[in-house]
Amino acid sequence: PYSRVLEIHKQHLSPVETAYFQKPLLLHQGHMEWLFDSEGNRYLDFFSGIVTVSVGHCHPKVTTVAQKQMDRLWHTSSVFFHPPMHEYAEKLSALLPEPLKVIFLVNSGSEANDLAMVMARAYSNHTDLISFRGAYHGCSPYTLGLTNVGIYKVELPSGMGCQSTMCPDVFRGPWGGSYCRDSPVQTVRKCSCAPDCCQAKEQYIEQFKETLNTSVAKSIAGFFAEPIQGVNGVVQYPKEFLKEAFALVRERGGVCIADEVQTGFGRLGSHFWGFQSHDVLPDIVTMAKGIGNGFPMAAVVTTPEIAKSLAKCLHHFNTFGGSPLACAIGSAVLEVIKEENLQKNSQEVGTYMLLKFAELRDEFDIVGDVRGKGLMMGIEMVQDKMSRQPLPKTEVNQIHEACKDMGLLVGRGGNFSQTFRIAPPMCISKLEVDFAFEVFRAALIQHME
Ligand code: PMP
Repeated sequence: PYSRVLEIHKQHLSPVETAYFQKPLLLHQGHMEWLFDSEGNRYLDFFSGIVTVSVGHCHPKVTTVAQKQMDRLWHTSSVFFHPPMHEYAEKLSALLPEPLKVIFLVNSGSEANDLAMVMARAYSNHTDLISFRGAYHGCSPYTLGLTNVGIYKVELPSGMGCQSTMCPDVFRGPWGGSYCRDSPVQTVRKCSCAPDCCQAKEQYIEQFKETLNTSVAKSIAGFFAEPIQGVNGVVQYPKEFLKEAFALVRERGGVCIADEVQTGFGRLGSHFWGFQSHDVLPDIVTMAKGIGNGFPMAAVVTTPEIAKSLAKCLHHFNTFGGSPLACAIGSAVLEVIKEENLQKNSQEVGTYMLLKFAELRDEFDIVGDVRGKGLMMGIEMVQDKMSRQPLPKTEVNQIHEACKDMGLLVGRGGNFSQTFRIAPPMCISKLEVDFAFEVFRAALIQHME
């Protein structure tokens, strides 16, 4: 029974894994964009796990391929070759522009970014890494240093004279602007990075330069950027900003890493990869989540030159990375995205969704901003548009819970957990957007009463 589940959770499972709702959901089954709880209630999944289920829960083709592969071979470890790995490597690399053609298969986004950090340092022979305010790049000890958003900011003793991060050579770039008037986030060493959200690109660039110059040895190894910040509440950069930032990093001998963990695989609609919409070519691309439609797999793609420099300093090895099962699933996901035209669907349904939800901004003073691209949307909640103070968490919780009770699951993000994040499986239809809109609007009306 449900009460027993809660008891077991309390006794034996990590307390850090706070459940989303006051009365946590006990999910039993999934089919495409729908989830079903233990009592048979149905929920429209507008968060895809955590932006993970790209083509739909238990997609029949992916499931069939996985079952067949399970009957044949699950595991060999990366020291043995197997056909699913080579088939997958060919398929994935065909989706990336030259010279991004060398693939490292790992198991999670954090692992992928860990490896990218090592690659950046090995290739550049420099030490310092840069990430943005508001970034999320993982929760491994290494990537925690890059991550800098809300509840995921770490305050741990590092023993290296560095106050707020476990990784001593990470600097914070300036970005992090959301609609709310952010209180300045603490910074590592002395870079200045607390811009107001409406500052223009030029000011961000100036601040970015300042950040680069505070790097003690001016020794930039790598710069990590999500094409759109996900966990921070779907925060977008000013036009051309990323392009100029990439150029500044390269002038100083650093490499540029696009973290496509949330934005890749067609979710943004206009392009297959988020970096393409910024007209930049990264040196390293990291990917996870949607790559396996919920099956744990991830990848780092880079140039032959960078891959070679890594090999000089490290014998890279990963027991589970690129297992036959993961690769077969990864291939099936890519086929489904193509066969079902899911990138195009993300573009069409995403545009429809953004325009529709933007109406709520006019109707409710507490809806500060509605933004995004394709099927990645943020709805930032404020006390009122005049103050632009974040809506208190308890109130956001109520709206969140009300949506769930009416059959809609959405995500949360932002520095104060003030932003609803919407990222449904890419197979959703406009009808389902209409349903989600009505539910979300009803939850807002209920909240105002
Ligand atoms: N990068 C980004 C942009 C992410 O959103 C996440 C997960 N939220 C990660 C990296 C880390 O991925 P994982 O949880 O698979 O380690």
